[in-house]
Amino acid sequence: MNRRERAGIGMTSARTRDRLVERLRQNGIANEDVLSRIRDVPRHLFVDEALASRAYEDSALPLGRGQTISQPYVVAAMTEELLRDPLDGRTLGKTLEIGTGCGYQTAVLARFARHVFSIERIQSLLKRAQQNLRTLEIKNVSLRHADGWRGWRSQAPFHGILVTAAPEIVPDELLEQLEDGGRLVIPVGPPGRQSLVSMTRRGSDFERRDLLPVSFVPLVEGTET
Ligand code: SAH
Repeated sequence: MNRRERAGIGMTSARTRDRLVERLRQNGIANEDVLSRIRDVPRHLFVDEALASRAYEDSALPLGRGQTISQPYVVAAMTEELLRDPLDGRTLGKTLEIGTGCGYQTAVLARFARHVFSIERIQSLLKRAQQNLRTLEIKNVSLRHADGWRGWRSQAPFHGILVTAAPEIVPDELLEQLEDGGRLVIPVGPPGRQSLVSMTRRGSDFERRDLLPVSFVPLVEGTET
């Protein structure tokens, strides 16, 4: 891929991306570092070519295998919440992501974390994510084909955990893998009634905030090729 393709042309141009960022800002995303990361990550590379012209609309798009690439506003809101006080506002330590999909959220997150550990249950999606991250020369990411319900025990505890598929209740195992002061951001609830929840660990307690209604694919048990 040459520089021109990576930078994007026409419907994927800088102006198109600026419009998306402006819209996210109007909708309440305030962290300028997050907004500039959204502007810089070429979302059109993460979707099928046929959808590339829609990559900078603020909407979820199909990824194949019944999965979707998250809406940019939701990616930004989740990243902003992970970085919110009392975390130091700029850098996360070890961060766990569950539901790699095509790797778009992973690419956004990698800019703010020392290292991202990301788990996906569908192997063919994980392979695409790996290629996408390689194309963008993002190196501080480790990918794993596994069932994310159990987290990534050998790498725990994590400073941040971000889940991009929705269980009906917050999995205890993920809460246990948070370090003190660390934060889990996760969509929770049955289809049609999910809300984005943030849980910050304070010793053996958790501070819960309900952020906004969302619509994610369900967190499913087991793996597929
Ligand atoms: N973060 C992605 C969104 C992917 S959609 C992006 O930015 O595009 C959610 C993903 O979660 C799907 O790829 C789905 O296969 C995955 N998923 C669902 N249940 C899972 C589980 N138990 N463990 C790991 N991944 C899971």
